[in-house]
Amino acid sequence: MLKYDPALPRPVLYNSVMIISLDPSTSEEIGRVPLMDADDVSAAVSRARAAQPAWAKLSYRERARFILRAREIVLDQLEEIAKLISRETGKPATEAISMEIVPTLDLMHYFADNAKQILKRRRIGLGQYNFMARTSYIVYKPLGVVGIISPWNFPWATPLDEVVMALIAGNAVVVKPSELTPLTALKIADVFALAQLPDGLLSIVTGDGSTGTALVEGGVNKIMFTGSVNTGKRVAEMAAKHLTPVVLELGGKDPMIVFEDANLENAARAAIWGAFCNSGQACASIERCYVHESIADNFIDLVVKETKLLKQDKASTDEIDIGAMTNERQLQIVEDHVSDAVARGAEIRAGGHRLNSQGWFHQPTVVTGVDHSMKLMRDETFGPVLPIMTFKTEAEAVRLANDSIYGLTASVFTGDLDRGKRLAEQIDAGTVMVNEVVYTHALAQTPWGGVKDSGYGRTHGGLGLLELVAAQHIHVNAMPGLADVWWFPYTKRAGELFRDFARRFTTGSLLQSAPLLPKIFKRLIERR
Ligand code: NAD
Repeated sequence: MLKYDPALPRPVLYNSVMIISLDPSTSEEIGRVPLMDADDVSAAVSRARAAQPAWAKLSYRERARFILRAREIVLDQLEEIAKLISRETGKPATEAISMEIVPTLDLMHYFADNAKQILKRRRIGLGQYNFMARTSYIVYKPLGVVGIISPWNFPWATPLDEVVMALIAGNAVVVKPSELTPLTALKIADVFALAQLPDGLLSIVTGDGSTGTALVEGGVNKIMFTGSVNTGKRVAEMAAKHLTPVVLELGGKDPMIVFEDANLENAARAAIWGAFCNSGQACASIERCYVHESIADNFIDLVVKETKLLKQDKASTDEIDIGAMTNERQLQIVEDHVSDAVARGAEIRAGGHRLNSQGWFHQPTVVTGVDHSMKLMRDETFGPVLPIMTFKTEAEAVRLANDSIYGLTASVFTGDLDRGKRLAEQIDAGTVMVNEVVYTHALAQTPWGGVKDSGYGRTHGGLGLLELVAAQHIHVNAMPGLADVWWFPYTKRAGELFRDFARRFTTGSLLQSAPLLPKIFKRLIERR
């Protein structure tokens, strides 16, 4: 018997073993998948564990061949994949291509081409120890099995980026996608199956939070979690019991500061795209806009005018700017934040309401007269709402931007790049963009991740790849016939030498250390 569970984020229909995926624009069923339990997860982890050693033995070039073959398949199936993402999330297919598929194709080629260089053996300078014929270097080894838990807002790009990076580094992966977008994740598995990735290296375990819990408890070597702060904290707590390392990519309340010397038209267009792309359901969405009081009226007029031109509808043609939101619960949060702001004196300048339709549509909404007492300026809204507030001074702008529990990204708009860069460094966020918004998640080369409650660890770029390997330090003494002066026995002479080491050797200066040579020599003889 199918039942509707109102406690779930969107009316996903469950029977005892299936999850039914719905089209957010129409509420029609588009497919059903198994609700997997701990046994299913354990079987997937075991398959991954068995397949990984042979995969790790392949060269980077051999592993890259599978990634690049998968990339070709994605290109062949571009339209079909975009349509599936669009149907499962409500976003326009054009946006699925620009914000999910294009960045992922780029990332696939980037890591196929560059992983070897990023993870190459790295020598470490040892200072004066090098004169004792000592060398050290780092080798990077795969972790084993990586568990990936992902949300619904970028159901293709978020898990696939991490799958590609984990695989190229020599790991096997088990992915637990959001219960709201399982079909898109299964498509990722189809693509890699067509690319003839060896069995067991990539499994998708469909299910809800219970399936995610089973994966965290399932003995994987690392968890890459992307989702809300509350779930992230629960995941970190569970993982800590097994000492399983975790990367947490959590929520955001990202600020955009617009200075009086900014290109106003572009700043307005950036604010609108930053706030409304993906129906505002991006962790890096512009959720707070601070504009200098001297240009506020002009800026707000431009933003309102442009917002009213946006086309919102079912994502059936390429001409739609904004589709549906992906789930009912998120839409209710948006309504709650907007009504709380209005009740506290804010003014709606565009949009403001859900659309009366079968699906979960909320109008792109511009709100002014806001302050930090409002939920709209404090909590993650994750919907198409752009609240705008004014400031007087640089210091006030930075203080307002930093007045948040979150710190994922931030944006500074100014015609003076030095000013932009100077202020960027004063803002507490994992990424600060000057004259840009949102898009750096699409850059395979740069790190992605937050500070404060936006999480810890990084995905993407060299730093992201390093999260998916174990750094091993190899230390070599090339004069095995000579005992170390600090070994037993501890004699009077040894004591004197150690004191000289403290005073001279530890300065790091050869000049200071040179007078120690005779004493070292005597100690070496004494040892024999
Ligand atoms: P969520 O926390 O509800 O769910 C995320 C994933 O965790 C889902 O797959 C879910 O099934 C799983 N899950 C739920 N309970 C679990 C548990 N107890 N143990 C293990 N797994 C569990 O988040 P959501 O609503 O799917 O996603 C929206 C959130 O994700 C927003 O806060 C957004 O900002 C954040 N997000 C962050 C980034 C980033 O890169 N920082 C990117 C995208 C989304």
